Amino acid sequence: MISLVIPLYNEQESLGQLHGQIGAVMAGLKVPYEILFIDDGSRDGSWGVVRELAAADPHIKAIRFRCNFGKACALNVGFEAAVGELVITMDADLQDDPAEIPRFLDKLEGDHLDVVSGWKRKRYDPWHKVLPSRVFNAMVSRLTGCHLHDHNCGFKLYRGQVVKDVLLYGELHRFVPVLAAARGFKVGEIEVHHRPRSFGHSKYGWNRMFKGFLDLLAVTARTRFGGRPMHLVGGAGLIMIALGMIGLLAGLLIGLSGSSAGWTLAHLAWMSGMTGSILVAIGLAMEWSLAEQNGGPWAKPNISETIGEPPAG
Ligand code: UDP
Ligand code: MG
Repeated sequence: MISLVIPLYNEQESLGQLHGQIGAVMAGLKVPYEILFIDDGSRDGSWGVVRELAAADPHIKAIRFRCNFGKACALNVGFEAAVGELVITMDADLQDDPAEIPRFLDKLEGDHLDVVSGWKRKRYDPWHKVLPSRVFNAMVSRLTGCHLHDHNCGFKLYRGQVVKDVLLYGELHRFVPVLAAARGFKVGEIEVHHRPRSFGHSKYGWNRMFKGFLDLLAVTARTRFGGRPMHLVGGAGLIMIALGMIGLLAGLLIGLSGSSAGWTLAHLAWMSGMTGSILVAIGLAMEWSLAEQNGGPWAKPNISETIGEPPAG
């Protein structure tokens, strides 16, 4: 069983064609499948089109959000609802070509992978999207160790286990392979045929680069230091405190020997130490809240013996 999860936001003109193309490819594969349309709060006639398609095709299931929650959220809800052993995600705007689906399946089985990510080698998007995207992909690959040419490609194939394991929110849909790889799943990629957008317009603007960069920082921190924030934040704090102490000592010595540069150094060192202390405190706070979530409340006493009725709870 294959589940196709398709997030859509104002894509009424594309849905009919997309459905037709998917139907043709899936009929050729002769495997049971479902199409999950997730309407992310469309304000055009998308939901009406989905309802019409669903009335004629029992493969279709659909979920409609009351307003726009974002692609990551739509994917997440689709992942929860999907029942297939394999899950395909693709965009609804006809830029991804359903004819590529058999190649995704071959790659997954052939290379024993858990995730196959599409790579739009030749992209039909404006340069101001393509160029930042190149930089972004290189940075993500470098920082996370999950090497893909096209992290943000919406066209991907997953084993069912993978999509049940990753939790998406915000705009983390760009990082599903990274999150999956951090959980031990095997990730690979294939080149895919990309098509220009025929209808409507892109839902993301120039500022996606900045948001993507912030998300990259958050994801890198989470995948590398997931269960131990203190090692990241507190570690940086300790380094700053150590530098501060050395600087303070050196500054005092230089200052006492008569050079005013010493006092400047001592001031800077003091600030470094203070900042470091704050970082350690933040690390502690993060660690506490993580402990609470993982089986707290830790403030509860550990009772060794009782006489009479044991206390409730
Ligand atoms: N999308 C969505 N919610 C949003 C924005 C986009 O479900 O808030 C869908 C959109 O309908 C499309 C896919 O996500 O199916 C990719 O969006 P788009 O084509 O605008 O992105 P681009 O191709 O420009 O990267
Ligand atoms: Mg698109």
